[in-house]
Amino acid sequence: MSGGSANYERAAEVVRRARHATAFTGAGISVESGIPPFRGKDGLWSKYDPSCLEINHFLAHPEPSWELIKEIFYDFFDRAEPNAAHIGLAAMERQGLLHAVITQNIDNLHQRAGSQTIYEFHGNSRDLVCVRCGSRQAAAETNLSRLPPSCMRCDGLLKPDFVFFGEPIPEQAHTRSLAEAQIADLFILIGTTGEVVPASMIPFLARRRGAAIIEINTEPSNYTHQITDIFLQGKATTAMTGLMTALGIK
Ligand code: NAD
Repeated sequence: MSGGSANYERAAEVVRRARHATAFTGAGISVESGIPPFRGKDGLWSKYDPSCLEINHFLAHPEPSWELIKEIFYDFFDRAEPNAAHIGLAAMERQGLLHAVITQNIDNLHQRAGSQTIYEFHGNSRDLVCVRCGSRQAAAETNLSRLPPSCMRCDGLLKPDFVFFGEPIPEQAHTRSLAEAQIADLFILIGTTGEVVPASMIPFLARRRGAAIIEINTEPSNYTHQITDIFLQGKATTAMTGLMTALGIK
């Protein structure tokens, strides 16, 4: 278990033999698209106060919370493009080598890269949802120059449709992710610390059900020494490009 070119060949062999491979991605896959992770030295929490994403704090202080949310997620994410790692996963799916992507990310980059089966464990920043009447509207069609934004239907407070701290996981994404963990014989983990529960439990469950684990990360995570079989240490784009080459995918 370590980096090195022989590892790419081994990983490619495991991918080719897999009956049902699932990718599980975290903030690290989008770092090279220009979106920082939450944690670590250059993480968003070294600059912003995470309480803007606690549901009770948000409801009590919508205006200052929205000012940070807009700066972090809507000014920022709009400028990001999918990178070689997102694009590589979409290519694997087209080749029949990947069944689904479970992502903790809310940045929409898997969709934009062309992946078709995506379970968004923490929702998505694309839509806003009204906390009063529950209706949804696209963030792109909402005026974010006056904060907090309000519902076109009932004038209630709008909240991004991603999971805030203290909120439940969207039921469908949760159920489908658990099903992937039951069925898959290979999980490919990319750019995740494995610190955010309950998402972090999914790869452990897959492992218990017998899945092989390939992991891509710049540094060891909670998974590396516990369940990872092949650790491709490096940046997501470099490692995915190495894997694509070993698989013969252009
Ligand atoms: P994290 O912030 O806890 O950890 C990021 C991981 O990525 C680390 O293990 C780090 O070593 C690794 N990493 C950093 N740069 C990398 C690179 N270039 N290539 C490969 N790996 C790299 O992220 P998390 O575990 O996903 O958990 C944080 C939560 O925050 C997630 O649930 C996610 O929803 C959310 N989040 C999402 C985004 C996004 O949508 N892009 C951004 C920040 C946070």
